[in-house]
Amino acid sequence: MNTEKYIALLQELKPYGAKLVAVSKTKPVADILELYNLGQRIFGENKVQEVLQKQPLLPAGIEWHLIGHLQTNKVKQVIPFAAMIHSVDSLKLLAEINKQAAKSSRVVNCLLQIFIADEETKFGLSEEELRSLLQSDEFKAMKNIRICGLMGMASNTNEEQKIAAEFGRLQRLFTTIKKQYFATEDYFKELSIGMSSDYKIALKHGATLIRLGSVIFGERRERPDAV
Ligand SMILES: *Cc1c(COP(=O)(O)O)cnc(C)c1O
Repeated sequence: MNTEKYIALLQELKPYGAKLVAVSKTKPVADILELYNLGQRIFGENKVQEVLQKQPLLPAGIEWHLIGHLQTNKVKQVIPFAAMIHSVDSLKLLAEINKQAAKSSRVVNCLLQIFIADEETKFGLSEEELRSLLQSDEFKAMKNIRICGLMGMASNTNEEQKIAAEFGRLQRLFTTIKKQYFATEDYFKELSIGMSSDYKIALKHGATLIRLGSVIFGERRERPDAV
């Protein structure tokens, strides 16, 4: 882990008021604890099995953010401790989160993941799907979820202009959706964009949550390290 880099990143994010989600996937609990001891509280994981292994071994003060594609049948296991789910990409998934959250008497913070890249491998809702979700009676009846904003992943490219255009589009969509559906809801304020390779661009496009893994923890191996 690179402590100096971490401190420098915090300084870099500060003027923008963006919060850092330390993406600890594949990294051992010792690395997470090291960062926790420096004051980091928000950690991001993308695999349910992995976070279920790590979470009980780490301080309760950690806010676990789930950032990866979530299968409906795994929702139940993460509801008791998830602070935020970034990757909600269907009404069906949201309905399951709402149902399980109700059973735990919780209100779970969610972001709706929007498809902004030009790659078929990335998950997310289209603008049309987003609107139809927000307008549905099923959504309006959900009492145990809170939509805190939008999340997106840009194309995996070195073309800065292309990434900037994708983030820019999502930023505009965020503003429009806020105005049309969440004008009086203070909690709808998060725009989760930016990873190690493109966070500087994301900061210029209104990012409030930046999801950084390799730039803090070092490159990941293909296979997860031992927990
Ligand atoms: C792995 C991951 C990140 C962090 O990636 P880095 O390039 O290591 O910063 C961010 N967001 C999601 C959804 C991820 O799966």
